[in-house]
Order: sequence, then structure tokens, then C-alpha cells
Amino acid sequence: MTTRILVTGGAGFIGSHYVRILLGPDGPGDVCVTVLDRLTYAGNPANLDEVRDHPGFAFVQGDICDTDTVTALVREHDEVVHFAAESHVDRSIDGGAEFVRTNVVGTHTLVVAAHRAGIRTFVQVSTDEVYGSIETGSWPEEHPLRPSSPYSSSKAAGDLVALSYHHTHGLDVRVTRCSNNYGHHHFPEKLIPLFVTNLLDGAQVPLYGDGGNIRDWLHIDDHVQGIELVRTRGRSGEIYNIGGGTELSNDELTRLLLKECGADWDASVLYVADRPGHDRRYSVDCSKIRRELGYVPRVPIEEGLARTVDWYRQNRSWWEPLKQRAAL
Ligand code: NAD
Repeated sequence: MTTRILVTGGAGFIGSHYVRILLGPDGPGDVCVTVLDRLTYAGNPANLDEVRDHPGFAFVQGDICDTDTVTALVREHDEVVHFAAESHVDRSIDGGAEFVRTNVVGTHTLVVAAHRAGIRTFVQVSTDEVYGSIETGSWPEEHPLRPSSPYSSSKAAGDLVALSYHHTHGLDVRVTRCSNNYGHHHFPEKLIPLFVTNLLDGAQVPLYGDGGNIRDWLHIDDHVQGIELVRTRGRSGEIYNIGGGTELSNDELTRLLLKECGADWDASVLYVADRPGHDRRYSVDCSKIRRELGYVPRVPIEEGLARTVDWYRQNRSWWEPLKQRAAL
């Protein structure tokens, strides 16, 4: 029987990739998808062009905080995969209200509707940033939550609200916490697409602080693989970390991007004042999803970055208007 999946935030970077994979040749084949997206500055209808005419696809422009819209839509679906969020840390530092509204109140609105409608599975897509910063070792899922930014604290709150509906009401909630994603269709305010598009334009790239902050980079193909494993085979009430297995300092990442774009360090890199409260290192322990669900990240960083740079080279018409509009 066809599974009806409501995907929130499906016009954004990761959500749209998830929908393209679900409805594409490598998808499960027995699903239909409705995207609910408010189309904020980060939501782009063009990200869904590839699936727009698919018979199993529908799009609704709407807000996850709008109880009437959410209640009506959730009732018509079997499962919810929840990506919608305010997602940019720097914007949350300038003002956190929208982050609390969407990431906490919006998540609450969704889980209430999911519980009332008897939704089969609710996947809460979250982030490793909820754990804070770690000097050595890696966080397992039981690690205490020590989020540092208004963004990560609102995601942590959303996770806890969602999990409380599992604990109290028995809703089948599964939380994924992934590391930093990269790939095509990534809004050009984020580090990799900002650097790549600047370099393709012969402009400088702004490197925060001393360039020593470390992130574990995850290609969106591997992230989507992890989410699908959790949606289809994960356990109710469980949290699963998803990582790419490649830790790089921002300096090291910048060197790889410069090489890929054929640019020179001295001419291209501009060190700028660090982000306030900038977490030094993130590192997720992914042994649970590997052991329980057979997750293995497949995209090596060099290959993933080469594919990403190539996509930005070929798709200027996608990112140039976005950069202009956002004055990036
Ligand atoms: P994104 O900013 O590219 O997309 C977010 C989408 O949500 C947009 O389409 C936007 O229009 C929509 N949206 C925002 N507020 C909404 C609202 N109130 N109602 C309905 N739709 C709304 O984000 P992304 O990078 O694709 O991230 C998706 C999810 O993955 C987020 O929950 C984020 O916290 C999580 N995550 C992202 C990363 C990463 O590296 N990008 C890492 C870890 C976790």
C-alpha cells in the first residue's frame, strides 16, 4: 500500500533533496509526498522542479505554526518527516524569535496534530549542534544537551517537545541528529556554497577566527540515506546520530575548496572576526545507526566537494539571484 508522507520544509536544501530521492528512480516506489513549506527566504520552489509533475507529488505553501493547516494536512498522511526550520546560526545570533517560533512552536504544532491524527511515524530531523562543542572524542546519543546558539537551543527544545509526545502519548517519534551537510541546492549564505560561489566569482572568502573550528562534513546523499533508514527501520522513541566521518578544520576545508575552484590562498582568504559563541568542534558518534540500521556514509569528501563545485559552476542561474536578493 502507498505510504503518504508529509514532508515539512521540503523546498529547502535537505528537504528538497529528500523529496527528489523519495520520488526518483532510487526511491522506495510506494510513497506519495506532500511538501508543506512556508517559502521563507530559504525555501525555493525551483528546488522541486524535478518532481513537480510526478503524480505522487503535491505542494502546499503554509506555516507549520498554523494549527488549522497542519491539522487538516496531517490527517491525510501516514507519516511526517519534519525538516522545516530556521537553520542559519548567524541569523539566530542577530535575532532568535523566529527560531523559537518555527523550531519550537512549529514542532509542537506538528506533534500535537500527529498525535491526534494517529500518525504512524514522525521523524524529527535535528542537528548535532544540540550537543554543544566537544574537545576530544565524539558524542553518543545519550550525551547531555548543551546547545550554544539560539539556533541550536531551539532545535534542542524541538527535539525534547517531540520526544515528550513519544513518552507521554506513545507517538512514534524518531529523532535524527546529523552533522554539517553539504551538496547542491545549498543556500549561498552557508559556508561551503558561500565560499564556492565567491571563488567562482573571483571574490575573497571570509574565514571566521583562526580557521581552526572543526566540523564533520556529511554529503546530502548520505544524510538522506540515514533518514530513510530511520524512517523505515528505526525504533520508536529513539535518537540516531548521522555523520559523514570526515572531520576537517575550516582551514583544511577552505584549502580543498580553493584547489577545486583553482584559486590561491593569499589572494582569496580573508580572516574575519569570529562568530560570537562559536563552537570549536563537533563530532558525532554514529555507531548506533551503523550497528542497528547498517548505515555507511558512501560519498568521500573529495568526490562530494568536486560534485558540489561542479553543480554551482553549472547552475549560476540558481544561485546568482539568491545572492543578490540576500546581499551576500
Ligand atoms: P533550509 O534553511 O535550507 O530549509 C528550511 C526550509 O523550511 C525552507 O524551505 C523554509 O521555507 C522552510 N520553513 C521555514 N520556516 C517554516 C515554517 N514556519 N513553516 C513551514 N516551512 C518553513 O534548511 P536545511 O539546511 O535544508 O535543513 C533542514 C533541516 O535539517 C533543519 O531542521 C535543520 O535544523 C536540519 N539540519 C541541517 C543541517 C545542515 O547542515 N544544513 C545540519 C544539521 C541539521
